[in-house]
Amino acid sequence: MKCIICKGEDIKKSMVKEELKIGVDIVYIPIEVPVCSSCGERYYDRRTMQYLENEEKKLKDKKVNLHEIGKILEYA
Ligand SMILES: [Zn+2]
Repeated sequence: MKCIICKGEDIKKSMVKEELKIGVDIVYIPIEVPVCSSCGERYYDRRTMQYLENEEKKLKDKKVNLHEIGKILEYA
């Protein structure tokens, strides 16, 4: 498999934190996806996309336990 962005061939499965925007909040979901080690492009297959959509739905329905790891701040 070649990277479609940089044509690099070093694509490895890695744990990443996918960022989901839920309203004004951001939730990180740890998933394992193939990542290009040269440019950092992530490759999502159908199953991963479905998993993320499903998690997003659960998050919007508040069916997931979360803990706060930081804050999102904006210039006043
Ligand atoms: Zn790449």
